[in-house]
Amino acid sequence: MHYPEPISKLIDSFMKLPGIGPKTAARLAFHVLDMKEDTVLAFSKALVDAKRDLTFCSVCGHITDTDPCRICKDESRNRSMICVVQEPKDVIAMEKMRDFNGLYHVLHGAISPMDGIGPEDINIPDLLKRLHDETVQEVILATNPTIEGEATAMYISRLIKPSGIRTTRIAHGLPVGGDLEYADEVTLSKALEGRREL
Ligand SMILES: [Zn+2]
Repeated sequence: MHYPEPISKLIDSFMKLPGIGPKTAARLAFHVLDMKEDTVLAFSKALVDAKRDLTFCSVCGHITDTDPCRICKDESRNRSMICVVQEPKDVIAMEKMRDFNGLYHVLHGAISPMDGIGPEDINIPDLLKRLHDETVQEVILATNPTIEGEATAMYISRLIKPSGIRTTRIAHGLPVGGDLEYADEVTLSKALEGRREL
């Protein structure tokens, strides 16, 4: 457009972020131009480092810079409970609430036949392996209250049932169609407390 190329490139980069339209992107780009060079360098390094140094925990699938992750390694946590969530950001939402002291399993998605996503395409096989190897007594299905999240919870619960492990689903009160990460801590805490047998 009418911007010099370096700035239009920067604007395009900001627009790759969720919720950032052209106006906000332009405002952010001009803000970067006003920043000190050191600050800009630190900012760009933080972006690259976050991408390069973070990996997924080989046990639970959460994002981590150590493998296994800090939660999986933490001996003080209750190893008889696994809370199954869709995304790493859901683990962070649950941890903020501080009411849950068990372990997690991150699916990295939900079953969605419409999008061609089946049970093998998300982290379900690894969950079953964990249930086989570890001393788990309860699996809390905390997938999102969406059609895909519900279908995924039902599917996993049916798979686990024969093993005799208790499966529970977090209560509603969570907005239907919403994402776990947007629930406030009280709502999330209530949803966990009011979980029911599946
Ligand atoms: Zn882990």
